[in-house]
Amino acid sequence: MSGTGGGPFRVIEGGRTGEPTPGLLITGASEVTTLAGGVRRGADQGAVGRVRTDDPTGPEAPVVACWDGRILAVGSRLAVEASLEGGGYPLARFARLDAGGGAVTPGLIDPHTHLLFAGSRENELELRRRGASYLDILAAGGGILSTVAATRAASDADLLAHGRRWADEMLTHGVTTIEAKSGYGLDLDTELRLVEVAYQLGLEGPLDVVPTWLGAHAVPPEFRGRPNGAEAYIRSVIAEQLPGIAAHGRARFADVFCETGVFTADQSRRVLVAAASLGLAPRLHADELAPSGGAELAAELGAASADHLATPSPAGIAAMAAAAEAGNPVVATLLPVTTWFLMKDHHAPARAFIDAGVPVAIGTDFNPGTSPTASLPLAMSFACINLGLSPDEALAAVTINAARALQLEDEIGSLEPGKAADIVIWRVPSTTQIPYWPGADLVRTVVKRGRVVHDRPDR
Ligand SMILES: [Zn+2]
Repeated sequence: MSGTGGGPFRVIEGGRTGEPTPGLLITGASEVTTLAGGVRRGADQGAVGRVRTDDPTGPEAPVVACWDGRILAVGSRLAVEASLEGGGYPLARFARLDAGGGAVTPGLIDPHTHLLFAGSRENELELRRRGASYLDILAAGGGILSTVAATRAASDADLLAHGRRWADEMLTHGVTTIEAKSGYGLDLDTELRLVEVAYQLGLEGPLDVVPTWLGAHAVPPEFRGRPNGAEAYIRSVIAEQLPGIAAHGRARFADVFCETGVFTADQSRRVLVAAASLGLAPRLHADELAPSGGAELAAELGAASADHLATPSPAGIAAMAAAAEAGNPVVATLLPVTTWFLMKDHHAPARAFIDAGVPVAIGTDFNPGTSPTASLPLAMSFACINLGLSPDEALAAVTINAARALQLEDEIGSLEPGKAADIVIWRVPSTTQIPYWPGADLVRTVVKRGRVVHDRPDR
């Protein structure tokens, strides 16, 4: 992977070709969109903070200065250069990176991925085309369970290689931080391996990886034949799997698939309360296929995020609105590629969440069954087309609001002095073109912690 050799991308210290230097100055941008000012919600969901210029090489054009992996200044070239010289940062110590007239944004953040698994499930596409539902396929032993069997049989080396392959692809789409869930092990040994591999991939870089434990993703095969198998599994999760994961110390969050036919709100609550007592912050898969009390539970627990939310109840939306109003918002992380890939006509009520003042984030839900795409910009297209977000609302949803969904909003998600220098230079002159070109390769350069980690200026 990039940064450790062997991967397809070069790591270039400082600028594109310069010598290692602590400073990096990104010039030549048509616009810089900062997302400064914290989590976006309500009428501010689309208030992204943008400086545009008709003359990207002129003195008033917006530039971004980085120092030692952090954002130092954002503003007009003239003002920033003067402030650097006057502030003890000699311009000679800055490598220059030319944006070539492209738009500049914070690095994108994918707040919901199932990065690590083995096998693939293209056969389900055909089953669905013939009318089978997600829960039909799961009840017949397919779906998640086929991935669980393949994942348990995979070696750590296989899982690492798979994770590198897809994390590298996410990087090429402008993503600099991802969440990575376990959940295809469903036993302590495999869940520990998945969390550890996610953690190791983050150490390798260049992407930062936030591991989430999702032991309660499905009822594993060995519990399915038992009476009350789901309940028996939840008890073993709380008594054995969770303490092992917590002692391991790598997972930052606990997640549960709270859904009719999977785990009830009460079972989800018991897992997440126990996890919180062991230091794992709660988040959950909520109301994806039917109203299941997930949005209500997320608000009750003060979860970092409630995800999917294609079918929340009015009470669930109201509960999340009240939490946001009280200053403790639960991010609504919507996953529009999944709804499309499952061939559903009904989409998450994104406008209802925005109108209710709930911050909205967007993720890929990258997984082998219901959303096999690593492209967060593609998810932005679906957010605009199927959820009714504006391009600016979608941009906030994959930057500062996605950072908030991972409780990292003080570190990443915007271009503000002091934050990590995670930056994307796009091959289009305006971010409003990102959702406009679905599936296209739009990324010119990715900077992670002040270093160029992906760079294709000539394409
Ligand atoms: Zn998911």
